[in-house]
Amino acid sequence: MTSETPAILWFRDDLRLSDHSALHAAMETGRPVLPVFVLDDGSGGSQASGGFRASGGASRWWLHHSLAALRQSLASCGTRLILRRGDSAGTILDIARQTGATDVFTGGLVAPGARQVDRAVAAALDGTLHRMRTTTLFHPDSVRTKAGGAYSVYTPFANACLALGGPKPTLPAPKSIRGAEPIESDRLEDWNLLPAKPDWASGLRDTWTPGEAGAMERAEAFLDHGLAGYAAARDRPANDGTSMLSPHLHFGEISASQLWHMAHRRQAGPARDMFIRELLWREFCANLLWHHPELPDTPLKPEFGKMPWRDDKPGLKAWQQGQTGVPIVDAGMRQLWHLGWMHNRVRMIVASFLIKHLMIRWQDGEAWFWDTLVDADLASNAGNWQWVAGCGADAAPYFRIFNPVLQGRKFDSDGDYVRHWVPELSRLDPRHIHAPWDAPADVLNRAGVVLGKTYPKPIVDLAAGRARALAAYAVIRDRA
Ligand SMILES: Cc1cc2nc3c(=O)[nH]c(=O)nc-3n(C[C@H](O)[C@H](O)[C@H](O)COP(=O)(O)OP(=O)(O)OC[C@H]3O[C@@H](n4cnc5c(N)ncnc54)[C@H](O)[C@@H]3O)c2cc1C
Repeated sequence: MTSETPAILWFRDDLRLSDHSALHAAMETGRPVLPVFVLDDGSGGSQASGGFRASGGASRWWLHHSLAALRQSLASCGTRLILRRGDSAGTILDIARQTGATDVFTGGLVAPGARQVDRAVAAALDGTLHRMRTTTLFHPDSVRTKAGGAYSVYTPFANACLALGGPKPTLPAPKSIRGAEPIESDRLEDWNLLPAKPDWASGLRDTWTPGEAGAMERAEAFLDHGLAGYAAARDRPANDGTSMLSPHLHFGEISASQLWHMAHRRQAGPARDMFIRELLWREFCANLLWHHPELPDTPLKPEFGKMPWRDDKPGLKAWQQGQTGVPIVDAGMRQLWHLGWMHNRVRMIVASFLIKHLMIRWQDGEAWFWDTLVDADLASNAGNWQWVAGCGADAAPYFRIFNPVLQGRKFDSDGDYVRHWVPELSRLDPRHIHAPWDAPADVLNRAGVVLGKTYPKPIVDLAAGRARALAAYAVIRDRA
């Protein structure tokens, strides 16, 4: 440790040491490095939650463990992570004043709140805020249409990214870091990021290993054993056929660039291309948020502002609790509660059910996901909710309403996913498990199912719900 003026390294959604351009740039100054993380719960912007909202409960659980892992990695490199809670801009400026630092290195984020914070720091800092790219594959401004505009359709966006030939080569993790003289730090344990009572996090503990090492282990395991079958398995929620890397990517414990290059070192083929295209969906959502800061709460298609949404608190609660009486929806919502994660196909089904069959505002669904997902990400969450609602960029048309029974039969044809998450239906055969209300009485009897008692009756008639949604859409479409 040394008392020289430090270079501040401000960690945000990039809680790792490898492929960290801001860390490398800070080290290259030749000054000792002061690594800092600020927990900002106020309107100033919680970086790790995406910008201007306090993190949800599941994200806080993850953040605690991820910071503990980062603290450990930094300690092994010979330096200490400084933790501070408060308004991010004010806190970083205070630390700069206290230590005499003139250079602050950080990962540039796409969330509007975080960008606002950056402007405030840059304006008031007696020195330079160096914003580096640590979370996305490309800088959002480097992927533009031929006319110089922003992309609003995924496929040309993805093709433009692919035409760039891939992100820069990744950077190795340093073996040691010349640490600055430590300053006062909060204790992570005092931040109370973990649930007190009731302890709802046991499913999270059993499923995830937050931190850079856990991220790398999952990535290697997926690329070695999962990638080959990805194309076939990725749409089948019972199969664990996807990488489950989304929370690690959200918290930046592994970079999208690392994954891109790791995947390219594996054998070429359609599965690998498909996986890269999924990473580009993440990139597309980040790009959308960069160009449309209103994405998290305002429909990109303005006519949707006039949609006659229903105020249905019991419906929303039944959806949140996985008690709608529609098996694939309930399975997904229970998986979400237990793991803090839900399979992508099922996210689309439950979102469509909420927005269309129940006609509840997509923002209410987005908020629930924000609180319960370990991968809750301002850009990807809002981008996908708007996509399902039909009001976003390149969105599925509103009139394409998923039939949850047909979706269940197609993507969970054996019923195993429902059987796992909705055990009260586990003795139903694949033909009836996705629509128990249509099953003959003796089939229900044999399976021990009493609708309305052991499992709810559907809270909405699917055909009537669909007709109601289409009628509402016709009204806003005609007015548009
Ligand atoms: C309503 C709704 C809300 C969503 N909210 C989020 C969210 O808050 N955070 C989040 O990371 N993803 C979100 N997604 C996208 C997607 O469901 C998850 O990224 C994916 O299920 C994560 O699982 P995985 O890592 O196994 O994905 P894989 O299939 O292994 O894909 C690899 C990576 O690509 C990215 N990716 C894949 N699909 C998408 C997509 N549709 N949009 C953006 N990125 C994608 C993710 O970073 C993912 O980790 C949402 C999707 C829907 C339909």
